Amino acid sequence: MDIALALAWIRALAAAVERHRDELTALDTAIGDGDHGANLSRGFTAVTAALDAPDAPEPATVGAVLTRTGTILLSKVGGASGPLYGSAFRAMGATLDGPTATPAELADALAAGLAALRDLGGAVPGDKTVVDAWTPAVAAFRAAAPAGLAAAAAAAADAAERGAEDTVPLQARKGRASYLGPRSIGHRDPGAASTALIFRALADATHSAGG
Ligand code: ADP
Ligand code: MG
Repeated sequence: MDIALALAWIRALAAAVERHRDELTALDTAIGDGDHGANLSRGFTAVTAALDAPDAPEPATVGAVLTRTGTILLSKVGGASGPLYGSAFRAMGATLDGPTATPAELADALAAGLAALRDLGGAVPGDKTVVDAWTPAVAAFRAAAPAGLAAAAAAAADAAERGAEDTVPLQARKGRASYLGPRSIGHRDPGAASTALIFRALADATHSAGG
């Protein structure tokens, strides 16, 4: 991954958030407070505005793109997902201090993002949160990393989407949805669904860049 691809990833993600905004809102209306689509839309609109600003500093590292993204998400998104995703992107950015990153380095960065999510939110797999999509995605990415970035990103996106789907039968044990107890069963977790967008955007941007 180079800096251009990191920027393409974030732009693809911002576009995906807009396309899926109403779906994320609907998921969060079912088991939360209905703001997840609006929260992420506000955040990623601010992220793209900052990246496209005429006076935006030229990022010198892959990590700088992700760190700046995380910082803006922290300040704009609010809710549970703002601090979670903001910290995850900042943690990823902190590990990528060169102008390019190998698939193995990116696997480490994604794992650092997951660690930040888990440290901050205290969720473990099975709690029906972002962690349920992020965990299998990181494992799939790492397993496929020797085959190259395109293969790793595609495997991670597939795994994240399966992970999000697998939250449907779970009862939420963290976040707002946990207040519903067993009534949270039967719905896809909104944060797991948006995490799947993060990994699908990485796969799409990598594919568009030619692998
Ligand atoms: P809020 O719940 O404050 O309205 P959002 O609607 O933006 O925030 O985000 C909700 C999502 O945040 C949930 O679907 C879940 O995936 C995630 N989430 C909530 N609490 C936690 C937590 N403690 N650990 C991990 N993820 C969490
Ligand atoms: Mg919400």
